[in-house]
Amino acid sequence: MNKPKVGFYWCASCGGCEESVVDLAEDILAVAEAIEIVLWPVAMDFKRSDVEAMEDGEMAVCFINGAIRTSEQVEMAELLRRKAQLIVAFGSCAHLGGIPGLANLFDRKSIFDRAYVESQSTVNPEGTFPQEVTRLNGHTVTLPRFYDTVRTLGQTIPVDYTIPGCPPPVKLFQAAVEAVLSGNLPPKGTVLAPDVALCEECPRKATKPDRLSIKELKRPHLVIADSEVCLLAQGLMCLGPATRSGCGAVCTTGNMPCTGCLGPTTRVADFGAKALSGLASVVEGEDDATIESAMEVLVDPVGTFYRYSLPGSLLHRKVRVPENTDARESELAGGVKP
Ligand code: SF4
Ligand code: SF4
Ligand code: SF4
Repeated sequence: MNKPKVGFYWCASCGGCEESVVDLAEDILAVAEAIEIVLWPVAMDFKRSDVEAMEDGEMAVCFINGAIRTSEQVEMAELLRRKAQLIVAFGSCAHLGGIPGLANLFDRKSIFDRAYVESQSTVNPEGTFPQEVTRLNGHTVTLPRFYDTVRTLGQTIPVDYTIPGCPPPVKLFQAAVEAVLSGNLPPKGTVLAPDVALCEECPRKATKPDRLSIKELKRPHLVIADSEVCLLAQGLMCLGPATRSGCGAVCTTGNMPCTGCLGPTTRVADFGAKALSGLASVVEGEDDATIESAMEVLVDPVGTFYRYSLPGSLLHRKVRVPENTDARESELAGGVKP
């Protein structure tokens, strides 16, 4: 019997999501036995032409990690959408934009200025920037277009399923592969992780008061937290109440607050707004000045509440600069709030 063909691809990604596949350890042998990997650029030498040569729908499933930042990533996502029966957004970056999505606080010009002119390690007196087309000695070299805005995979192509997390927990990936192989899949659009808050699987759950009241917020690297008690009750900004479970509460088990990488449950439209409103409802003070002083430790609100989800949020990005947005990008932006 022919094995189902499976692809893995990466876009604007750190490579950490690929670790989830490798972290299967010896179980990877069973997976490799059950499937035929036909695309995995991080590990094997596949070319774009190999994908183009496939029949449409030839792959049973393609796991795509990383956000969408360049024209090449859009082209590959669209190509893979045609070649795979199922597309799985794999990891926070593909799901909600992830860490690369924080670049939506800036536009392309300011990112290029910072990278190629202003950074302390750069010497560039001629102000040379990457060119999309370079012609030299009769040869032409092209680079992908770097879009002004980072998008999620689902804002670029239709996505069938999502495995959340930064990186996705191994057991969620393993369960997804088993579901694909058995055909026992939930309705399309499902995020393949439990639809309850992380607190439900946190070993500190019993110590989380029903009515929380925080007078002082603390930054995790400046205190040694009690290893048994709810971190939020200790004044540490744990986003567990706003975050989907499924990781085994690895961070809170390791005495670190949850930063929200699995994203929201289905009952939440905007992860950052949910996390912010949850925190606002438990910080107590007698007057505005006391509350402001309690919140002073919140030095990076966007990076705290939208660390993994800015492109997928209702805000989507800080500003859109029309002159930096090309026609293709405007077309892609259809339905995405500026
Ligand atoms: S989700 Fe996390 S691990 Fe995966 S590519 Fe994005 S930043 Fe890296
Ligand atoms: S430590 Fe965080 S995840 Fe655990 S119970 Fe408290 S708020 Fe919830
Ligand atoms: S505890 Fe939170 S940040 Fe840590 S892996 Fe789980 S969901 Fe992600």
